[in-house]
Amino acid sequence: MEHIENNGEFHNLKVNKGIQEQPIVNPYISDFKRFKRKTYSVSEYIDGIIKGNVSILSQAVTLVESSRPEHRAIAQEVIEKCIPYSGNSVRIGITGVPGAGKSTSIDAFGMQLIKEKHKLAVLAIDPSSEISKGSILGDKTRMERLSIEKNAFIRPSPTAGSLGGVARKTRETIILCEAAGFDRIIIETVGVGQSETAVHSMVDFFLLIQLPGTGDELQGIKRGIMEMADGIAINKADGNNMEKAKLAQNQFQNALHLFPPTESGWQPLVLTYSGYYETGVREVLDMIDKYIVFVDSNGYFQHKRNEQLKYWMYETIDDKLKSNFYNNPEIQKELSKCENEVLHSNISPFGAANKVLKIYFDK
Ligand code: GDP
Repeated sequence: MEHIENNGEFHNLKVNKGIQEQPIVNPYISDFKRFKRKTYSVSEYIDGIIKGNVSILSQAVTLVESSRPEHRAIAQEVIEKCIPYSGNSVRIGITGVPGAGKSTSIDAFGMQLIKEKHKLAVLAIDPSSEISKGSILGDKTRMERLSIEKNAFIRPSPTAGSLGGVARKTRETIILCEAAGFDRIIIETVGVGQSETAVHSMVDFFLLIQLPGTGDELQGIKRGIMEMADGIAINKADGNNMEKAKLAQNQFQNALHLFPPTESGWQPLVLTYSGYYETGVREVLDMIDKYIVFVDSNGYFQHKRNEQLKYWMYETIDDKLKSNFYNNPEIQKELSKCENEVLHSNISPFGAANKVLKIYFDK
């Protein structure tokens, strides 16, 4: 194209013809193989997953995590078709405050499981990742040994959306991992806030990792989290910590005795171990194995999984209803009007709620 500077109206500036500048981006880039991401059909996804192809599994998980409706549609189909192949794993939830040693421990537990010929998937639910972007569970090189193991699949927390949304994606990812032949699934979460409940609703065994302390360890742990735990493991029971760890073990054990009996009939155990020095690791895994045998024989294992299935059905209905309601433009307008009226005491909160709901249901 001729430069406008070269037209007669410009007197002081002239652009000489020269060599055309090369585009910054190589126009042939899309032909480069490594920049091309192969997309698969639903049946290719299913086939690949069932054959245990981790790269296809990984791409399917990306679809599960995507917020694009076309991705969601494919993901949904793949999940449905994978369900008959799922369920054959022990699902373990692990929680503990940041610094408790979760990643070090999962690396140790995982390497032991891999040695025993298991296939392990490690998934995470990190509710902080939405706010802080750099997630608590992903801000450092974690599980160094496990991350290069062929039989381990590690996936950080999905970031987008509410805790409910993040948890649902993880729950769906479990199905895909199981269909791909992973027989041990660890779901990790940070021991702060609501995420434990979400994890508890998708695992068979819930492990709480604690630190040796100086007698005040029972403070600061929400009773609810302790009540959820099927086992408590005191990490860092090494070096000078040994005595403190034993003390903590006694305290937790005593505290647990005061709790009402668990629904499963299992008496939660408290163990000490060191994830870093890998002492007591097999004992923690033994506890999980024993629990599974126990609840399998008394029928609680299946009962809990059934309850979880129902939970996720209702949870999804709740989610969809809510988002349909709150994303409706007419409702949004009405809500802000009603909010004002409530704040000015023109209408009671209940009256306002009923008014908006009536508009929604009468549509
Ligand atoms: P996370 O935040 O719960 O995942 O904790 P990390 O696994 O990142 O561990 C936090 C810190 O504790 C790191 O510096 C680890 O090296 C250290 N740590 C983890 N496990 C042990 C252990 O068994 N013994 C000791 N002494 N230190 C540990």
